[in-house]
Amino acid sequence: MADSKDLAKDNTPVKIGLNKVVSFHYRLAEVAPDGSHGDWMEESYDGQPLHYLHGFHNVVVGLERALEGKGIGETIEITLKPEEAYGPRKEGAQQRVPLKHLQLRTGDSKIHPGSLAAVQTDKGMRSVVVVKVGKFNADVDFNHPLAGRTLYYEIEVVDIREASAEEIAHGHVHGPGGHHH
Ligand code: ZN
Repeated sequence: MADSKDLAKDNTPVKIGLNKVVSFHYRLAEVAPDGSHGDWMEESYDGQPLHYLHGFHNVVVGLERALEGKGIGETIEITLKPEEAYGPRKEGAQQRVPLKHLQLRTGDSKIHPGSLAAVQTDKGMRSVVVVKVGKFNADVDFNHPLAGRTLYYEIEVVDIREASAEEIAHGHVHGPGGHHH
């Protein structure tokens, strides 16, 4: 029995499409060359669902495509190649940055090779993986940590709503789970 908020004004179920704000839970694992997938690397089920504005590439292209036309409560299982997800790994993406410019992820107290961190660049905050740590500088890799990987996703659509005109103008979600500015 559909909740009334799951229905559009003409009583058809709301489906994911352009200018909809979508909330979803996910978990993802890396797919091995033999097609098996290992342990979950990331998941949202221990916290809030993710929110994104459909049609604006707020999520990786393969996910956006798979979510198109889905309704609240629907689930998706999908395997995405790197080019549908975080792209191939690029060579020459390592750079030396001052330690004081690195922000460790919350929960990490000490920087070490393999740490995930954020760096302020002229293109905004970027996620990096720490490769080597020196006294004042660290060598970091600007490839997305999931670049070059084939990923298996399990997705559950939690909510769908119309985006506000402001959200559409900005190209992202505002409010809980979105941008605050
Ligand atoms: Zn905004």
